[in-house]
Amino acid sequence: MTAKSATELVPILLNRLGEKYPNARYELDWTTPLEMLVATILAAQCTDVRVNKVTKTLFQKYKTAQDYLDTKTAELEEDIKPTGTYKQKAKAIQGACKVLVEKFQGDVPQTMDELLTLPGVARKTANVVLNNVWNIPSGIIVDTHVNRTSQRMGLSQNDKPDAIEKDLMKIVPKDRWTFFGPAMVLHGRYTCTARGPKCGECMFNDVCPKLNLDSGKDDE
Ligand code: SF4
Repeated sequence: MTAKSATELVPILLNRLGEKYPNARYELDWTTPLEMLVATILAAQCTDVRVNKVTKTLFQKYKTAQDYLDTKTAELEEDIKPTGTYKQKAKAIQGACKVLVEKFQGDVPQTMDELLTLPGVARKTANVVLNNVWNIPSGIIVDTHVNRTSQRMGLSQNDKPDAIEKDLMKIVPKDRWTFFGPAMVLHGRYTCTARGPKCGECMFNDVCPKLNLDSGKDDE
């Protein structure tokens, strides 16, 4: 195999990811922008499967940003406990909802700059919401899976999410950003796994430089 540059690799990745995951989407369940935002906050250090189990009942109880504010923090903590780090997450949800109510009439804003004014919301969460809810190419989702796979495939030499995102935004065409993120999440979750990546059965085996294979953290 001749080593390919990151720029040469991207069209191959997009083609093959497109064939395998034509409708790639984030695997969190949601029906409103607020639900997407809350689910994304809950998904930190937790599997999507577990988050979906919790939000099934949570979203019946909390319909609006004001609903989260009208509830005692201890009660919200109890409601989201199975997702882990629940004190921090309850604080983040109520902090974000406070700003939504005070500055955005309870609605989730549709720009990166506005979303970043919500406490606890960083670029990844904002991209998840903007990419998935409105298909807005605000950037590329870099979660733990995209972080790991991008480094292994030589798409970025950085290890910080914001720096990796910048590298990816330079080489992936903008009209593919909202597809590339969720598709790479699936690739990382099911094939290029943190521990024991399945290179033998990977569709990129012939083109991937397989860098830092031991670098994967033990996550979902
Ligand atoms: S060949 Fe291995 S390291 Fe490269 S993307 Fe596939 S699973 Fe990951």
